[in-house]
Amino acid sequence: MNTLTHEYDIVVVGGGTAGPMAAIKAKERNPALRVLLLDKAHVKRSGAISMGMDGLNNAVIPGHATPEQYTREITVANDGIVDQSTVYAYARHSFTTIEQLDRWGVRFEKDETGDYAVKKVHHMGSYVLPMPEGHNVKKVLYRQLKRARVEITNRIVATRVLTDATGAASGVMGFDCRTADFHVIRARAVILCCGAAGRLGLPASGYLMGTYENPTNAGDGYAMAYHAGAALANLECFQINPLIKDYNGPACAYVTGPLGGYTANGKGERFIECDYWSGQMMWEFYQELQGGNGPVFLKLNHLAEETIQTIETILHTNERPSRGQFHVGRGTDYRRQMVEMHISEIGFCSGHSASGVHVNERAETTVPGLYAAGDMAAVPHNYMLGAFTYGWFAGQNAADYVAGRELPEADAAQVAAERARVLAPLARASGLPPAQVEYKLRRMVNDYLQPPKVTRKMEIGLQRFDAIAEDIGQIRAANPHELMRAVEVMAIRDCAEMAARASLFRTESRWGLYHHRVDYPQRNDADWFCHTHLSKDAAGRMVSHKRAIEPYIVPVAGDDATAYQRLRVGRGQAVHPGTEARPEAHTESRTGLATGLAAA
Ligand SMILES: Cc1cc2nc3c(=O)[nH]c(=O)nc-3n(C[C@H](O)[C@H](O)[C@H](O)COP(=O)(O)OP(=O)(O)OC[C@H]3O[C@@H](n4cnc5c(N)ncnc54)[C@H](O)[C@@H]3O)c2cc1C
Repeated sequence: MNTLTHEYDIVVVGGGTAGPMAAIKAKERNPALRVLLLDKAHVKRSGAISMGMDGLNNAVIPGHATPEQYTREITVANDGIVDQSTVYAYARHSFTTIEQLDRWGVRFEKDETGDYAVKKVHHMGSYVLPMPEGHNVKKVLYRQLKRARVEITNRIVATRVLTDATGAASGVMGFDCRTADFHVIRARAVILCCGAAGRLGLPASGYLMGTYENPTNAGDGYAMAYHAGAALANLECFQINPLIKDYNGPACAYVTGPLGGYTANGKGERFIECDYWSGQMMWEFYQELQGGNGPVFLKLNHLAEETIQTIETILHTNERPSRGQFHVGRGTDYRRQMVEMHISEIGFCSGHSASGVHVNERAETTVPGLYAAGDMAAVPHNYMLGAFTYGWFAGQNAADYVAGRELPEADAAQVAAERARVLAPLARASGLPPAQVEYKLRRMVNDYLQPPKVTRKMEIGLQRFDAIAEDIGQIRAANPHELMRAVEVMAIRDCAEMAARASLFRTESRWGLYHHRVDYPQRNDADWFCHTHLSKDAAGRMVSHKRAIEPYIVPVAGDDATAYQRLRVGRGQAVHPGTEARPEAHTESRTGLATGLAAA
């Protein structure tokens, strides 16, 4: 295996959604820059939107919503734990990003006047914009990448960020999953856009790759950021989504809701007023399953034939086009019966919840020269449009950062250590197959970390994850492709440990099912109205600390503050576990701002 060294101004890791936008915007900012976009898959069809997307979940469009309304909505949906500056920056730029995509050729639904046809799915405002022809998004992006003269390298698995003597990012290392050649990519700035940590839990189907998330997003980005010294935020706020049972796609209440579909219990009754995904929504879903009212279903069988045909046209051609085939195989027809749903495996994903690498509104992490965007960057509920928008911020700001900055030398010790770590499984004559170790690890994740979270179980989980580190030392890869799987298991293990430690640190319950701790069932704003950050300390230990929430830009008060706790149909009062028994309301937040949330 050769070691190949390259030099660039900016290297973008991950060519899914945020990555292409970051690369294009860096080149637009300064066309003289050498920008490399690399992906472990093929950029033409990689990432969460590889087969297109059926809508924008969070479009902030003038005349339909304001940045202030959106910032308030997401603050409430995320139980107040947000740095509003990041959400607000997204919301203010959201329409500019939509207009850019529109000009590039992404088709959005418009009404007869030419206005964007925004739908209401969230609890308070209207932000969902359908993309009935959204299957071509990757094609559109690829064309723009070529036009901007971004250099693209496929099939390279990035494994670690290089850092210079000051601790700043100075490139990435990785290997080719077809040849196992080792690559050292020196760069003045690094942008990580590696998506969610989607292979943390094991799906109920038992298939390693049958995850809700695009399975190439194994958590490498989280592990790389951690080992580079970056702080990760609110990792205990797991991603858990409502899916179609045995199918790794969302039931898509976002698409069906505005057309009259809804989530129902086993009796066909609606039990939540709003199908927008939140921890509280998942809590109500879980209650229905536990309370004898399950299973939970997507109910469409009351709709007119014409409406069902519209739904099928969108859902069976876009995003997850295998869905129609799945229903044929199962013998389910939206017209005749409800479609059974289930709870997904756990993962990290700020795009859907809030667990990610800490970034500010410039997409900067806590490591100089290291930027992050998309599902792995902790801007809550950011979804696809947020990935594009933060990719944009990261590209532009990285282009400014590298101006006048020397290209640092690659640290020979880091390169040697990483080469040895990464290629070790290929050198073993015998050993454990990567898939077996991955299965064992992810089964342990389910056993010990799946909410409701139990302290003793998570402590045992940590012991198991330590033991699996020993198994990892015995993995044998028979070829470069298996080597990729072996290295992914190492990242998944890191994520499992991060998930356990972050969850143990926050000794309260918050975000509905995402962080329900059986031993601490109450929400405790007095002690925990804050972020948690996890990072590697000087001794190489995984440590957590509290970080204050920035003063709010948009105040949240009154009924709004508790809107997401009143999701259950027929119950006007807050129903979050613990809020019923809260001893006493607090009148101000830790920041001193009258947010109303702390008093909720
Ligand atoms: C099933 C599903 C449905 C969704 N529906 C909607 C919707 O309707 N509306 C909406 O707004 N949002 C939706 N989302 C969310 C949206 O798709 C994501 O938020 C967004 O695409 C994330 O972009 P990203 O760039 O962070 O990740 P991705 O687009 O997934 O890109 C990550 C890329 O990184 C690459 N990569 C990972 N690790 C490495 C490595 N070590 N080395 C090199 N490359 C690496 C991967 O191969 C991948 O190409 C959905 C997501 C999913 C999974």
